[in-house]
Amino acid sequence: MEPLTINRKESRLRVAPEWADVCFTCGTCAGGCPITGIDGMDPRKAVRMAALGLDQELIDSRFPWICTLCGRCEYACPQGVEILKMLRRARGLRERDKVPGPIHKGVVMDLERGNNLGIPKDDFLFLLADLSKEMDEDDGLPGFYAPVDKKGANILVTVNSKEPFGEPDDMKFWWKIFYAAREDWTVPSEQWEGVNWGLFSGDDESMKTLVGRIVEHLERLECKTLLLPE
Ligand code: SF4
Ligand code: SF4
Repeated sequence: MEPLTINRKESRLRVAPEWADVCFTCGTCAGGCPITGIDGMDPRKAVRMAALGLDQELIDSRFPWICTLCGRCEYACPQGVEILKMLRRARGLRERDKVPGPIHKGVVMDLERGNNLGIPKDDFLFLLADLSKEMDEDDGLPGFYAPVDKKGANILVTVNSKEPFGEPDDMKFWWKIFYAAREDWTVPSEQWEGVNWGLFSGDDESMKTLVGRIVEHLERLECKTLLLPE
């Protein structure tokens, strides 16, 4: 086995060699971490792995994925060690076909079809019209309709695709507030996904592309305010 090189010039996790000295293993990070002890996870251990150059071992481990990305460790660390950033970078360095769960597939789906679950445009628009009719005729909100691609609206509303997919009535909660407040709002007809799974998969490039789409909507429709569902 090759000796570990602590004072490495480069780290794939962008961990400075000084971390080996900066972190004095006080355990403050571990004390506040909600998942310390699960699957042997301990943020102090993750920091030590990175400081010792065990980048690939950390990237291949479950640690970055069971981390909730809550940031309590980084906030509490008296030495300013960027634990959260390191763990998220470790997610981003995992081979994409080995990213656990559906989050990478969701990112690809969003890039290709405009939302994490691949809901077709026609189905989405049909659902908006159907729910609007219910609001108008059955829910006591006469004249209600969900405005699509309305230029100059105050609020651009993005959507969590799980709602149109499985819990469509949940969209009505916001709509009822808008109706009561006489708010001027709109939802894009395409690329309306408001949950960016690139954040969770550590995929900064895709995340940037998806954020860029929302910025384009804001500019094209001249909306002043953005509503993200989560
Ligand atoms: S809180 Fe900071 S200094 Fe203390 S063990 Fe954790 S990373 Fe190291
Ligand atoms: S960001 Fe991750 S490692 Fe840090 S406290 Fe939260 S769950 Fe624990």
